[in-house]
Amino acid sequence: MYTPSDLADLLDCEHRSVLRQAHAAGVAGAPRPVRGGDQLAAKHGRAHEQATLTRLREEVTALVEIDERDPATAATETAAALAAGTDVVYQAVFLDETFSGRADFLQRDAQGRYEVYDTKLARRARPGAVIQLAAYADALRRAGWPSGPNMHLLLGDGSTETLRVDDFLPLLRRLRDRLTSREPGLPEQLWADERAACGTCAFAQHCADGREADRDLSLVAGMRTDQRRKLAAAGLGTIDALAQAGPEARPKSISPASFTALRAQAAIQVRQDATGKISYEVVDPDALASLPAPSPGDVFFDMEGDPYALDGDGLEYLFGAVTADGARGFTPFWAHSRRQEKKAFEDFVDFATARLGPVLRIFT
Ligand code: SF4
Repeated sequence: MYTPSDLADLLDCEHRSVLRQAHAAGVAGAPRPVRGGDQLAAKHGRAHEQATLTRLREEVTALVEIDERDPATAATETAAALAAGTDVVYQAVFLDETFSGRADFLQRDAQGRYEVYDTKLARRARPGAVIQLAAYADALRRAGWPSGPNMHLLLGDGSTETLRVDDFLPLLRRLRDRLTSREPGLPEQLWADERAACGTCAFAQHCADGREADRDLSLVAGMRTDQRRKLAAAGLGTIDALAQAGPEARPKSISPASFTALRAQAAIQVRQDATGKISYEVVDPDALASLPAPSPGDVFFDMEGDPYALDGDGLEYLFGAVTADGARGFTPFWAHSRRQEKKAFEDFVDFATARLGPVLRIFT
């Protein structure tokens, strides 16, 4: 049995997919996924879905909501709603011997064909979301319901991304075959290399702990993936090995300057790990010395924003300034609306202008 989320996992990170399958199958030693994630995004995601539901309730004559939690009963209710020609089926459930999934909306077009609509808070169609959508569209077809050629993502910025189902079926089949032909088990190495998908992954801590425990080269600040691969191939697979390496250990494909810098960085971090004291080396004293001398007029400025505020339009809700003379410490300029955002920025500009003297620098 696989779900649309399993396909998205496989697309985002095969390691995650393997770990999740092992955990679900009860494989001994399989790490447990950590629930939680981005609560703010989840909250706004639910609000986006509810807003779509409210809009559709006003637009169509017949909308059926499948709120039954038991998958088998929910699938039966979904089939009944589709058979009745309902305009929109909300939380439609598909269930057969191999697949289980719950689509946000199935909407009937003028020709009586259904198409899948899924709400996503993102402002662009991400691969994982598209493959989930394709899985629902495929389930709709396999169950024999009249279905249209397209599928749709209702995005967080109010736009709709419409895609052709047929364009994604070959990829869907490849992923499905890979997923269903794999036996549950654990990979030899329980963690994997960092990638974009780690940011929202339920195994993020597990993999980070693994990299740390194995002293992986990815711990070295500024290390690129290709450099890490070349160093590991040359037998320098840990931060400790790199820290102790001499110039003769340099792989030919890494320049002497890059190797020296990475080796020095590794050595600093290893020293800091061992002593527990902040460790540093001044690499380029001239560059450091070219920084301007501190001035009483100096302002250190930062802004904080909420991309979900104001119905997804986003808001810069805080402009903050720390002044170098310390007289006022931290000065915040808060905003809770578009009007206040404008005012907060104007107030900050007035604040900075009032400090105008022989030298005024704003560091951001
Ligand atoms: S933390 Fe990153 S590498 Fe580990 S399973 Fe998740 S996405 Fe994959």
